[in-house]
Amino acid sequence: MTTFPLARLIDAFQKLPGVGPKSAQRLAFHVIQQSESFVCEFTDAMIQAKQTIHPCPICYHLSGQSPCEICTQANRDRRLLCVVADARDVLALERTQGFKGLYHVLGGLISPLDGIGPDKLNIAALLKRLQQEEPTSEITLEDTTEAAPPPVMIQELILALPPSTEGDTTSLYIQHLLNEVPLTLSRIAFGLPVGGDLDYADSLTINRALQGRQVMI
Ligand SMILES: [Zn+2]
Repeated sequence: MTTFPLARLIDAFQKLPGVGPKSAQRLAFHVIQQSESFVCEFTDAMIQAKQTIHPCPICYHLSGQSPCEICTQANRDRRLLCVVADARDVLALERTQGFKGLYHVLGGLISPLDGIGPDKLNIAALLKRLQQEEPTSEITLEDTTEAAPPPVMIQELILALPPSTEGDTTSLYIQHLLNEVPLTLSRIAFGLPVGGDLDYADSLTINRALQGRQVMI
């Protein structure tokens, strides 16, 4: 009998973030000791998540429905749009229960050193969202199982991007783009160390950052 499947399993675990060789070995041995039904349930959960979770066609948050559960919620304040770098930031803001507007997930931050320009992010889609001419215009989306509520003109764009070089660059880029768009642009006031992510902030800090947001234009 070959040990190849075991080595393959350890190698697979090691590809996960934050899992080193020792942890990968521990996880692999743990899995082997479990029942087959446990392992099937585990792998099925991963496969189902991978097959059904996609970026929302409106806000790019990850969801199992299209448009996502936030875009389709009737009680959201559609005049407020919060721009975040990552879907995890949406989860962090939602945990605070202090923000009732909508989101736009950029899918990263501008980082020339890493070859990430504005074209690699969902910035064009953001502009398109802001430039809807008629507040009552219909959003037509393919593969839409549930219709989103009628859009309302966005009045304030809140940048909730980290206070890092990349976060600052992205904020300035968006500010420059929006010079001609008639809306209020603000940026949340982080009470976090430079480079701190929303994901690591507690709800109180995030709520304070939202309340203390600074108007840019
Ligand atoms: Zn959405």
